[in-house]
Amino acid sequence: MQSIFDGHNDTLLRLWRAKDRDGTRFLDGDGEGHIDLPRARAGGLSGGLFAIYVPGEVEPKVIGDGNDGGITDEPPIGPVDSSFARRATLEMASILLRMATVRPDAIRVCRTAAEIEGAQEAGAIAAVMHIEGAEAIGPDLAELDVLYAAGLRSLGPVWSRSNLFGQGVPFRFPSHPDHGHGLTDEGKALVRRCNALGIMVDLAHLNEAGFRDVAAITDAPLVASHSNVHALSASSRNLLDWQMAAIAESGGLVGLNYAVGFLREDGRRVSDTPLTTMIRHLDAMIEAMGEGCVALGSDFDGALIPAEIGDAGGLPALVGAMRQAGYGEALVERICRGNWVDLLRRTIG
Ligand code: ZN
Repeated sequence: MQSIFDGHNDTLLRLWRAKDRDGTRFLDGDGEGHIDLPRARAGGLSGGLFAIYVPGEVEPKVIGDGNDGGITDEPPIGPVDSSFARRATLEMASILLRMATVRPDAIRVCRTAAEIEGAQEAGAIAAVMHIEGAEAIGPDLAELDVLYAAGLRSLGPVWSRSNLFGQGVPFRFPSHPDHGHGLTDEGKALVRRCNALGIMVDLAHLNEAGFRDVAAITDAPLVASHSNVHALSASSRNLLDWQMAAIAESGGLVGLNYAVGFLREDGRRVSDTPLTTMIRHLDAMIEAMGEGCVALGSDFDGALIPAEIGDAGGLPALVGAMRQAGYGEALVERICRGNWVDLLRRTIG
């Protein structure tokens, strides 16, 4: 079975919301959401970026069905209290660390590409700790040092909201990532500190001005861990042609997001979305950036995904669709695993 290293999941959030502080649901397999250990193994999911995301007090609701022209999430996503963010971030990191301590045969926290390959060879899930929205980190970046020591190797300065570091794109369709100002001085300092430590900077939820700022100051490849092609699905979360060109030029990477709202031409959030829609985005990414810059970023446990995949156990259906589309085995391996491991070797070491 094809081994898959995936650029984004919200499984730690799922476990945290269920108050499963030891990750028992994951390890035993609760069948909820998209990922647990048995389904990961059944589908070939051998590793990925495990996101820590702090939810807001008010969860926005999806407004509009796409038939009357627009889809948006209301109310707009507001800021998160920083002390709540610190506590929630440490609790989610703890869930991952506890699982890895108790069951190193099942899951390991990987700090380098060599550790990822070692875990995969041993049959354990290679988890890279990622933060999606840095609300837990204060202006002196002290928390970043501590989180790095705990295993953090990837960070998105913002989620789809504003914080101390910059501005994310709200979820809108049809829309555009050109929304608001660029990185703050604190945001620029955060990017430089991530560069110095060897933490990957993720552009997935950043607005266009913030993307431009990161591109100007970072010394690492540009990465959008879970984003799609704006020309095929006009979501504010998707990448413009110039952004894909900048990513390719930097030797970076884009992970295909399985969220139907970022895949479909009409932006509708319906799971009855064919895998050929995903292949169209992969084709466009390969065309724009080349075979070395394209990978996967499922958004498992964080989004509505095509029914033909269903959950992590259904990943072979996506691999089958790639083969059906004429992708050779070498390309399938690069998209599914190799490109992520190579990118991480060049960014985190
Ligand atoms: Zn996300």
